Amino acid sequence: MKTTKEVIYLLDRLKEAGFEGYIVGGCVRDYLMGITPHDYDITTNALPEDIKRIFPRTFDTGIQHGTVTVVHNCVNYEITTYRIDGAYKDNRHPDEVIFTDDITKDLSRRDFTINAIAYSPEKGYCDPFGGREDIKKGIIRGVREPNRRFREDALRMLRGLRFSARLGFEIEEKTYEAIKNNAELIKNVSMERIALEFLRLITSEHCEKILPIRETGLFEYCLPEISYILKQRGEEIAGLLKKADKSEDIALCIILACEDNPEKILKKLKLSNSLINSTLSLTEHYSFKIDGSKYALRKLLSEMGREGLLKLLNIKQAKGEPNISEAEAFIKAEEPIIIKDLNINGRDLTALGFKGPEIGKAINRLLDFVFLNPENNKKDILLKEAEKWRL
Ligand code: ATP
Ligand code: MG
Repeated sequence: MKTTKEVIYLLDRLKEAGFEGYIVGGCVRDYLMGITPHDYDITTNALPEDIKRIFPRTFDTGIQHGTVTVVHNCVNYEITTYRIDGAYKDNRHPDEVIFTDDITKDLSRRDFTINAIAYSPEKGYCDPFGGREDIKKGIIRGVREPNRRFREDALRMLRGLRFSARLGFEIEEKTYEAIKNNAELIKNVSMERIALEFLRLITSEHCEKILPIRETGLFEYCLPEISYILKQRGEEIAGLLKKADKSEDIALCIILACEDNPEKILKKLKLSNSLINSTLSLTEHYSFKIDGSKYALRKLLSEMGREGLLKLLNIKQAKGEPNISEAEAFIKAEEPIIIKDLNINGRDLTALGFKGPEIGKAINRLLDFVFLNPENNKKDILLKEAEKWRL
């Protein structure tokens, strides 16, 4: 495996100090699949205090779990001491973390075989659960006994579904059965964590996997409204998710567009306000028919902003609606017009004799007049138009 020179530097420093070090988890999996890793996690038999002694710039991120963040060449690397998890009380967090100096033991507490591979340039691969073979076969398989592992930490089930959708892998039979049998335990996981995994799942490359995933019953317990929607419209939704851009608000809009109260569901997911608002802006305009009208597009552009409108068009393209490419080209070239761009203001209207709420109404009418033709956005034309309404 090829690693970066920074990672080799960090592993060399550990070795010099008399410790083992491996890169582990997502970065090894991604590399073996031909995907450039987005970060490198390192695991070692050095204890947190050793790690802090060896590296000059560190800070504590999850020291209680044995993780120290090391800053090297302005990049953060998580270095975690080999550990085994103690008993789990709440289906989510181990009661205690026990350090070990055996890499195999550390790998055995990880969730899936494909995530339980370690690599060191010196020692090669450490892959006691056949993770490389499962990557070749395209299989998500729980490490050791999936049933017990999901009872320990119920979030693992949702992670399994997410990896299946991200990588396009099948969930191995025993692992799938274990998810079905333990689905109810997902209730013990916080909504924030559930939503995070769900968002990753629906923006995955192979989001068509949402159909076999639906059958595990996991969503029924953690996201009952969404489970119901997927039962009703799963095939249509999977098709649209596959075709549309992979973006959180687009995916949420595709799932929620036909609901009476999408806001209620979004709030239950405890999503950020900005994600809720951008999704609602899409669901509100989901059924809007795009015809050749430039007026309608300017109006939408002013309401949704360019980024929002392009996302709406992307969804419509996925739905196979007509006129989308032309609308997209138009929107990309067009400057959005909002009230503050109007070449007339409240004072001008007051001078014409408009009073109180009439002024706001007139401004909106003038904005509409400019949507019809941006050439109308000249003070004399706007004043003349407004004067007509005073007569
Ligand atoms: P991603 O590309 O999404 O970051 P990842 O595999 O790196 O994928 P992380 O959440 O960053 O996922 O976790 C790093 C590693 O820690 C995993 O590869 C896995 O070995 C282990 N891990 C993470 N969460 C769990 C868990 N809940 N139970 C067991 N092992 C876990
Ligand atoms: Mg990771």
